[in-house]
Amino acid sequence: MTDRYAVFGNPIAHSKSPVIHAEFARQTGQDMAYEAILAPLDGFPAAVQAFREAGGKGANVTVPFKEQAFELAGRRTARAEAAGAVNTLKFEGDAILGDNTDGVGLVSDLTRNLGLVLASQRILLLGAGGAARGVVLPLLAEAPAGLFIANRTADKAVALAQRFVSSGPVEGGGFDALAGRQFDVVINATAASLAGELPPLPEGLFAPGALAYDMMYGKETPFLAFARAHGARVADGLGMLVEQAAEAFYLWRGVRPETAPVITLLRGA
Ligand code: NDP
Repeated sequence: MTDRYAVFGNPIAHSKSPVIHAEFARQTGQDMAYEAILAPLDGFPAAVQAFREAGGKGANVTVPFKEQAFELAGRRTARAEAAGAVNTLKFEGDAILGDNTDGVGLVSDLTRNLGLVLASQRILLLGAGGAARGVVLPLLAEAPAGLFIANRTADKAVALAQRFVSSGPVEGGGFDALAGRQFDVVINATAASLAGELPPLPEGLFAPGALAYDMMYGKETPFLAFARAHGARVADGLGMLVEQAAEAFYLWRGVRPETAPVITLLRGA
């Protein structure tokens, strides 16, 4: 029987996850179906329950339900605990396992697809929301020289850094703390790009040969334009999206799909 999976979000019509998982399933010969489900803003747990009762085996979760998915999961992986958010659910009989694959997705894209070695690099993470929280621990696991988290609301960046201070060299602050500092990798995890805005970044931020990475994908953002104008290499978050999906697919099916052809396919589309 065909196993059923889904992505829950609101809105959800824009989601590329059904195309990605259909490609993974075709490539690996897995008998599964994957659909996008629009959950009501006040009805996420009920929507997941209905899907489980209909035979669903697992799900991805996107904005704005990742914190609710965290609560829903009776058992959580260490990386989901660290992120405080869940983007992947696996239904195991009566139990629900919650995982977070966003961080490993970002690191896979940076290291495998973009060829970066993060060890000894100076990394700047812009933003302290859900996406930023999920990537701090996986970035520190790569042993960078330092990770600075800068956020519009400085206190949130300081608090986020504080949570992970035992895991590596991490500090947090406001954008004003960036003056006079240089970084090798600058990752934009703010929602500024969604609004067509640029966080207030100083001149001289990018070290020679630096990479600027915007988690948003699908269009040229003011952040990527700024980075390009200041001599940095640039990348968007499409690779992260495909890599986090591959990690979820592996959790569900125990098979690792090839991501490169799927990234190429989506770029072509
Ligand atoms: P959240 O709403 O949780 O966090 C938003 C963050 O952006 C906060 O740190 C907020 O600062 C900051 N921010 C919002 N507007 C501005 C602005 N105009 N200038 C500067 N900072 C701003 O969002 P998420 O963390 O869930 O998502 C962030 C981005 O990451 C989105 O673009 C999303 O699409 C992308 N993303 C991509 C993924 C991928 O697979 N490629 C996966 C997950 C997310 P403050 O605290 O001061 O409000």
